[in-house]
Amino acid sequence: MSVVYLGLGSNLGDRVSYLRAALDLLIASGEVAIRAVSSLYETAPMHIADQPAFLNGAVEVQTGLSPLALLHLLKETEQAVGRVQRVRYGPREVDLDILLYDDITVRNHELTIPHPRLAERAFALVPLKEIAPGLLLPGTGASLASLIPAALALGSVDLVQGPEWYGVGS
Ligand code: AMP
Repeated sequence: MSVVYLGLGSNLGDRVSYLRAALDLLIASGEVAIRAVSSLYETAPMHIADQPAFLNGAVEVQTGLSPLALLHLLKETEQAVGRVQRVRYGPREVDLDILLYDDITVRNHELTIPHPRLAERAFALVPLKEIAPGLLLPGTGASLASLIPAALALGSVDLVQGPEWYGVGS
C-alpha cells in the first residue's frame, strides 16, 4: 500500500458538491481509502485570470494502485463527476492531481511526481501542509513551510471551510 497526496480543485457551479462527489467516487472504486482531508481554501486563478475563483483542498489516501493506474482512475473520476474538456488552465468542474506518491519521483510523458507545479502553487502547498506538516519534497528535500511564502506571493489562499466539508462516505 502506498500513501498518496491528492490535490483537489473546482471553480464552476456548486464547487463543494463536485469535490464531495469526486471523493465519494474514489472511495466507491474500492481502490482508494481516504486517511485525511484538509480544509477548503478559496484561491485566485493562476495562468488565466479571467475565470471564477477556485476552491482547493488536499487529501491523504492509501492505495494499492500504481502511479499511472491511479492517474487513470483520477481522470475517469473527473469525467464521471462531469468535467468538460476546455482550454488548459481554464475553468473546470473538478480537477484531481497527484501531488506526491510515497517518496518516489516519476517523469514521463503522462505523469510527473511530485506534481510539476506543486512548489509554486500555494493553493496546493497550503492544504498539503495542513494534513502533512512535516513532509519534505522528494528530490529537493524542501519543506512545505519553506516553499509557501514565495508561492503566496503568486496567488492568495483564503480558508473558507474546515475539514468537516467532507464527512467520509457522506
Ligand atoms: P489537468 O488539465 O490538470 O487535469 O491535467 C492535464 C494532464 O497533466 C493530465 O492528463 C496528466 O497526463 C498530466 N499530469 C502530469 N503529472 C500529473 C500529476 N502529478 N497529476 C495529475 N496529472 C498530471
